[in-house]
Amino acid sequence: MTGLPWHQQALRELLARRERMPHAVLLTGREGFGKVEFARALAQSMLCEQPAAGGLACGACPACGWFGEGNHPDYREVLPDNLVEDEPDAEAVATDAKPEKKSAAITVDQIRALQQFITLSTHRAGWRVLVLHPAEAMNPQAANALLKTLEEPTPHTLMLLVTDQAGRLMPTVRSRCQVVTVPGCEPSAAEAWLVEQGLSGRVAQDVLAQAGGAPLLALAWADEAWQDSRRQVLTALAEPERADWLQLAGALEKTDLKPILHWVHTWCCDLVLQQQTGGVRHHPDFAKAAAKLADRASALALFRFESELRQLRRHIQHPLNARLWLEHLLLSYSLVVAPADAGRD
Ligand SMILES: [Zn+2]
Repeated sequence: MTGLPWHQQALRELLARRERMPHAVLLTGREGFGKVEFARALAQSMLCEQPAAGGLACGACPACGWFGEGNHPDYREVLPDNLVEDEPDAEAVATDAKPEKKSAAITVDQIRALQQFITLSTHRAGWRVLVLHPAEAMNPQAANALLKTLEEPTPHTLMLLVTDQAGRLMPTVRSRCQVVTVPGCEPSAAEAWLVEQGLSGRVAQDVLAQAGGAPLLALAWADEAWQDSRRQVLTALAEPERADWLQLAGALEKTDLKPILHWVHTWCCDLVLQQQTGGVRHHPDFAKAAAKLADRASALALFRFESELRQLRRHIQHPLNARLWLEHLLLSYSLVVAPADAGRD
């Protein structure tokens, strides 16, 4: 199958106008429902030389073969260097050299290379497809350079920009693309897909709850090491009196900050839900602890903390100091759930 099960209908609708395809499409939608997979499925279907029913890629022609191997000559993906998974650098390993810090931005040089690619004639005399993700990673120079390409489209060239933060794109870039929202899916479809990927039904339900129903996030989060980190953080959040926040911040400072923020956020959502409905949504394995703690945190304190989390989220890509960022996060949380006699204001 080309694309994920919940993408099929939307893919067919787009492919029904293959010959009138807009030259630039902005694919938006919530994180974790497979926007990049959608873009790749659309790209492969556009490049396929014997499209199957509904215009979807056949999976068998030479073009599909090259696409599957990642070397179709008329296809390019542009992403920031820090998202490119590369082979371990043998020399760096041998000399124990520190790896160079990779760019988190899509740069103007990358856009120029892409423009050069567009000026070449296509190898297979069909479409040429470019996927940029995440599009909001373009720095201003890159976005300005891309704008020129969007203003003077090349025939039979489809540009797919993928973002879950369309608001961070330059409005002029956004306005030159047709916006397509990549569909989400029902919890039952997400669970069925996760089971197909090899998870047990029970694990599938748990990770889906943690990921707010997003199947691709859920699949990534089924990883054992990931779950160990989650339990470590949740255990501290659930038993604040026993937690050593500074030590925890130290232990976590080298890890990805985004999931930690997500766990703190979803845990606080569970506390609010527990207060309002007597149940939790995200971390059912910590439901008892949530019930114990929920009364301790006032709705007002949780509300204030929520806006603090929004502030912290803004700095998550480039915190000046990960350790300080974590200490701020965890100590702020500890105040929200501090017992009344512990000097809460
Ligand atoms: Zn094909």
